[in-house]
Amino acid sequence: MQDDLTSFEEELAKYLNVKHVIGVADGTMAILLGLKAMNLTPGGEVILPSHTFVATAAAVKHAGLKPVLADCKEDHLLDHNDIEHRITEKTVAILPVQLNGRTCEMDKIQEIASKNSLKVAEDSCQALGSKFKDQFAGTFGSFGALSFYPSKTLGCFGDGGAIITSDSELYSKIIQLRDHGRGKNGLVTKWGFNSRLDNIQAAILKAKFSNYEFTIQTRRSLAKHYIRLLSDISEIVLPPLDDLYHFDVFQNFEIRAKNRDDLVDYLIENEIGTLKQWGGFCLHQFPDLNMNSDTPFCEELTKNFLMLPLNTTLTMEDIEHVCKTIKNFYKKT
Ligand SMILES: *Cc1c(COP(=O)(O)O)cnc(C)c1O
Repeated sequence: MQDDLTSFEEELAKYLNVKHVIGVADGTMAILLGLKAMNLTPGGEVILPSHTFVATAAAVKHAGLKPVLADCKEDHLLDHNDIEHRITEKTVAILPVQLNGRTCEMDKIQEIASKNSLKVAEDSCQALGSKFKDQFAGTFGSFGALSFYPSKTLGCFGDGGAIITSDSELYSKIIQLRDHGRGKNGLVTKWGFNSRLDNIQAAILKAKFSNYEFTIQTRRSLAKHYIRLLSDISEIVLPPLDDLYHFDVFQNFEIRAKNRDDLVDYLIENEIGTLKQWGGFCLHQFPDLNMNSDTPFCEELTKNFLMLPLNTTLTMEDIEHVCKTIKNFYKKT
């Protein structure tokens, strides 16, 4: 916890226009420590989307809370219309996931939360720089969680994460939680964790962050090129492009594709790698974790969702090559 960490935290806080950024070991710990610091009623229910990384639900579980899954909508993000009927007297919070570099319709989610006296916290691990109605992902709820895992839009050379908050009480708790519960002068006042962001990772992140606007613009240009070239293929549903309210950073370019598995094989034959996010599963499909499974849109998603190559080493010609190959596949079938 030297100068590189402090100055990276300050820079990020300035960019996001929040009071505090706290570097931690990884994105999962960011969610866990944030939830711990919120002091929610033990055993309380937290509503989150089924289409997310298991880390979102695991953090809820390890914070002594119960993950309750809700469905997603056309943009693959938490469906605000599927939240209210899942609220019980045990519900304590809503945990939207700002997936694929896009931010949920946070005004609708916050409206539901305040109507039902619930807290909001954000898994914004995929959404640094993403905005809804000109406000950054991660700045809507009590806290936002960031991940700097190498495959994220801002990645370090290992694991890393951060918590975003403007709540000073939450901040002072998390500062202690990430460092063994220690306060100033080594006095330990609570059970804590070893969950610091390494100084060397912070130094790498600081250097990469100086170029972050360019990173975002590159990703957005590549995504727009995909959308231009693929929009006339009826077998494919594309992710939404910005509208009046959304500013996406395209952490991923996740489409829905007819005959997905055959398409994947055909693309591999043509030396194009794709990914099914998290192995092709949504959280309701892990019966051993005992979560609810009534999320039909997510169930459909897992049958046809697919991520096309998108990273800052790609050129417009690469995108054209991928699109041409996809077109050839559907011409044959
Ligand atoms: C990456 C990610 C996380 C966890 O981040 P780690 O740094 O790998 O712990 C949590 N939620 C989502 C949606 C993610 O994409």
